[in-house]
Amino acid sequence: MSREGSLEAPTRHPIAWRDEAFYDAEALDKEMRRVFDICHGCRRCFNLCDSFPRLFDLIDNSADETIEAVKSEDFGNVVEACTLCDMCFMTKCPYVPPHEFQLDFPHLILRARAVEAKQGKKDFTQRQLAEMDRNGTMARVASPIINWASATTNKPMRALMENVAHIDRTAELPTFHTRTFVSVDKGDPIHANAAAPAYGKRKAALYATCFVNYNKPATGIAARAVLNHIGVETKVAYPGCCGMPFLEQAELDRVAKNAAKVSKELVKLIDEGYDIVALTASCGLMLKFEWPLIVPENADVKRVADATFDIDEYVVDVAKKEGLPAGMNALPEGVTVHLACHARAQNMGPKAAEMLRLIPNTPVDVIERCSGHGGTFGVVKPTHDLAVKVGRPVFRTAKQQGRGHIVSDCPLAAQHIVQQVKELAGKDGSEAKAREPEHPIQIMARAYGLEFS
Ligand code: SF4
Ligand code: SF4
Ligand code: SF4
Repeated sequence: MSREGSLEAPTRHPIAWRDEAFYDAEALDKEMRRVFDICHGCRRCFNLCDSFPRLFDLIDNSADETIEAVKSEDFGNVVEACTLCDMCFMTKCPYVPPHEFQLDFPHLILRARAVEAKQGKKDFTQRQLAEMDRNGTMARVASPIINWASATTNKPMRALMENVAHIDRTAELPTFHTRTFVSVDKGDPIHANAAAPAYGKRKAALYATCFVNYNKPATGIAARAVLNHIGVETKVAYPGCCGMPFLEQAELDRVAKNAAKVSKELVKLIDEGYDIVALTASCGLMLKFEWPLIVPENADVKRVADATFDIDEYVVDVAKKEGLPAGMNALPEGVTVHLACHARAQNMGPKAAEMLRLIPNTPVDVIERCSGHGGTFGVVKPTHDLAVKVGRPVFRTAKQQGRGHIVSDCPLAAQHIVQQVKELAGKDGSEAKAREPEHPIQIMARAYGLEFS
């Protein structure tokens, strides 16, 4: 008889994406039926996302309420609703390895997408959106025009984009910047604060990440300013995107290439004594956990995984080990901090909230629930409404909290939450207090009175 749950620490197996058997549709179908049957009997994940309710409805509404009565072509509905947030694996499932059920729901969904991709069922728009470096480099040159064209207020253009590219006309899109984070850093280098307790003890290479580099340089500038102010010497590094958007599309060969290319450059900085600090939650998760499962034989990847910190985790670590300089000002308007799934999946504790609680006399409210965004999921027409539905409890809570700032380690989640809070406020004639989505490190920069825009 199998044991209920596991008392041993969970492990995750490398993804066997280079084996032919990984793409065997029949074997996949068998495995999906095995796992879906276990989930149907368990149901713990009913409220995590829309994948599980869809799965349970499929079985409950089948002829004899068993997995055998469900048609394989209906599994696509379950696969579609998964944002690969990892929360079922990390927070709920008692049957993950080493339990004999060997259940890894997100990686099963990833395999299903990889099989779909092999069969040529790839979505053109999502594939184009995944080309972060190409898009960022091109958009940088024409950023004013692109930002004008993609604004939700530009109704004719957004209607056209919806018809041609299936990007939902109401979804706010990230803006692009002529001055990327890397170019700001080159043009305006800054130095560590010699009066801070950590001075001379730490060096951090800020892995800019495509999103911060092209779309949110203010987050990078804030991170650099805070780290320098607390005495950490910094260097900005951006050898390329980590490949998370390719992971979403199950293009695992592209992820492997990006992992090899980026880690090869980052290990040179590790050799110079730098810690690697990731500026968005998804990238931190990629560097620490997903890359080593995709290219387990790559020694550079292993070294990068061991040397990587999330930015909030890093500041908290400095605060605990060396101490922070005094001089933070209270932010009485307060902060709502959304703990992003990909930050939670790093198994490091609620570091964003821990960091923000270092600011004196500043109310910090935490929301630990999926915002529904999930990368391109919240942007493309077929899943945008679902992204809003899943995130609704978060939007309502954030609105009720009424804080002056809404922050998340996931930039897309922050943007999604702020947009929807504004819409809720518009409906009842009130005004949303937080006007712009922010990263928690921007709040630290504000508290220290540092320039970051
Ligand atoms: S990984 Fe996240 S979205 Fe996917 S099934 Fe699990 S909880 Fe749902
Ligand atoms: S993933 Fe695990 S915890 Fe979630 S429903 Fe399936 S068996 Fe239960
Ligand atoms: S996970 Fe990070 S580097 Fe990768 S695509 Fe997202 S923001 Fe870019």
